Amino acid sequence: MRSSGKRIGFIPTMGALHEGHLALVESAAARGMVPVVSVFVNPRQFNQSEDFEKYPRLPEQDAEKLEHAGCAVLFRPETSVVYPAGNSIPALDLGRMENLFEGHFRPGHFRGVVEVLYQLFGMVRPDAAFFGAKDYQQCLVVRRIIEAWFPETELVICPTIRESDGLAMSSRNLRLDAVSRQLAVRFPDALKSIVESFHSGISCHAAESRAAETLNEAGLEVEYLKVADARTLEPLNDWNPEGQNVVLGAVYLGGVRLIDNMVF
Ligand code: AMP
Repeated sequence: MRSSGKRIGFIPTMGALHEGHLALVESAAARGMVPVVSVFVNPRQFNQSEDFEKYPRLPEQDAEKLEHAGCAVLFRPETSVVYPAGNSIPALDLGRMENLFEGHFRPGHFRGVVEVLYQLFGMVRPDAAFFGAKDYQQCLVVRRIIEAWFPETELVICPTIRESDGLAMSSRNLRLDAVSRQLAVRFPDALKSIVESFHSGISCHAAESRAAETLNEAGLEVEYLKVADARTLEPLNDWNPEGQNVVLGAVYLGGVRLIDNMVF
């Protein structure tokens, strides 16, 4: 495809595909690129073996959805292909990303993301790579990976796709039972309440603690819920009225971990 002048738009995923993933495929196609999707549940980015084992795997449904969405190539490698024995992957200094938010609560997670993307980008050699803003911190990590090793690849960040009630689409939502699924909407509502507080003059700290309290009372266990600088992800003590803010959160609900964010 490359030799016939076509440009490769790469969408790495872990499968159990939903409209959030398909929007990335459509975005690549809309730019006139050949969408190449990988489905690989990367063992190295899971810090809990149970989470890895319970991660939904739906290969037939994925293939069908991709065909409809205009995906040209579905790449579903075995672990031994992504990580051949004896192969070594260089380290990448992720700076503060290693210690903040997902880096802090999921030790080794971003190292796993770096390893899989180093390998997959090396194999696919994309002209552009498409990622979702849903995984905000991951997008910042991908930017570093691209700067360090794949400067020819363009990074395209696509907006978070949500269910009609506001819950960010996620493969992990499939693991929520009916009661938890109903409660889950409280999570984006809490993020929204923090964004609204910024506009209504309530202090940042008060907005964060009120939202966290509301979630905990509703039965969602808050791991973190924090306003940060949208560029550096440094946690903020107070709103930053000049630059962009982002509110980032992770909650546990019925044994399932959900993350989400909103930029404002
Ligand atoms: P995953 O399969 O969870 O590793 O996600 C693969 C890609 O899809 C990543 O770039 C995610 O950020 C993106 N993604 C996942 N959920 C959504 C969503 N709700 N909206 C937009 N992109 C998403």
